[in-house]
Amino acid sequence: MSQGPQKILYVEDNPVNRRLVCRVLTHAGYVMLEAEDGLSGIQIAQEERPDLILMDIMIPSMDGYQVTTKLKSLPELANTPIVALTARAMEGDRERALIAGCDGYIPKPIDIDHLPLQIAEFLGGKREEIEGSAEERLVLQQEYSQELVSRLEEKVRELQKANAELHRTDELKSKFISIAAHELKTPLTVIQGYLTMMLDTRGHMRAELSETLRLPIEGIARGLERFNAIVNEMLDITRIESGTLELHRQLMLVKDAITNAVHKLESAAGERGLTIKLSPMSGLSLIQADAGRLRQVFFNLLSNAIKYTPDGGEINISTKIIQGVEVTHPNHPVRDSGTFIEIVFEDTGIGIDLEEQERIFGHFYEVRDVDLHSTSKTRFMGGGLGIGLAIARGIVEAHGGFLWAESEGRDEERCPGSRFRVLLPVED
Ligand code: ADP
Repeated sequence: MSQGPQKILYVEDNPVNRRLVCRVLTHAGYVMLEAEDGLSGIQIAQEERPDLILMDIMIPSMDGYQVTTKLKSLPELANTPIVALTARAMEGDRERALIAGCDGYIPKPIDIDHLPLQIAEFLGGKREEIEGSAEERLVLQQEYSQELVSRLEEKVRELQKANAELHRTDELKSKFISIAAHELKTPLTVIQGYLTMMLDTRGHMRAELSETLRLPIEGIARGLERFNAIVNEMLDITRIESGTLELHRQLMLVKDAITNAVHKLESAAGERGLTIKLSPMSGLSLIQADAGRLRQVFFNLLSNAIKYTPDGGEINISTKIIQGVEVTHPNHPVRDSGTFIEIVFEDTGIGIDLEEQERIFGHFYEVRDVDLHSTSKTRFMGGGLGIGLAIARGIVEAHGGFLWAESEGRDEERCPGSRFRVLLPVED
């Protein structure tokens, strides 16, 4: 028996009933805990270990019988008296409650004057018994088991339906992205065409045009470049999802693709006081790969390392040849006996929580609130479309490689940093 006032958990979805019963029992000296549905009832019971549980039977989702059966199966609650409260008062309700594991039954409407005494009796050890012969009890038990199985079947059907609906919504989303990207591409190409007529080969305004147009034209050109990149990312994700990403393989040096990404981003990194350190990349063999696509992967990883590292931080890029991989990382186990070039992007940034380390490779996934979203490629915590990593992994996997993230966790103050590892197969 616990010290101090006894605790009673009342599982009931109707707030008016809850208030009334709680008021009466609090007045009688009990500490009341409340749960408005079965699942939270189970949780509170496990956490708080009440001395008695008052269980309304007609509650949403899991009913009071099922919640009772579950509670009685938990060793720490097996001896806690559970008293059923129900307004149904149909024939067999009392027996069903007792079969489900309840120790007593109080029909509604509750006799408020009598309730504290009834509760005290159950707390004092009163237990109701099922009347009838052993055979009758067996029949009741069978009926209850069958009912549980039917409810389970009903829930499985509901889940299957919800799952099918989710799949359909996901397909619709993919279709929408694909259509939107294709539709946007057409007017974009037209605007691009006209703009090209006004720019020279270096992307500056042609000398013969009026100087007053310089600012708007060069501004439109920059905006359009970004717009194009976004639409291309949308098209890429569609291709990766549908397995139609085409690779134009050629013999290439991984080193060149890495250097290309570094050159493109070093001035942006410099503006934020970030140092990019490139370890010596000698001894790497030529591989058959799509150079443009690998440049895209390294650009995405490096721009993320820049985005999620505070000003003044450091980004290290290292490469090596490895023979056979066995990664036991919980999120991304890898086992392969082949030869790979390993490229690691390591930053001193905010880091990534363990449970996010695989989710970030999902489509349109951002760890932060999307309201804070911007499509900057280099601003600190700039955010983006949330598909850069999905595309990067899609490309690496299309090459027969692997890409995953490692980090101690996310901490914007301490900055534990993140490591992104890319493995690209080398053909013997
Ligand atoms: P985004 O366009 O939002 O950068 P990504 O697919 O490239 O989309 O990345 C998904 C999410 O993964 C980011 O929103 C960010 O929360 C997290 N992330 C990616 N790279 C890093 C990194 N180097 N450090 C910390 N978090 C990262």
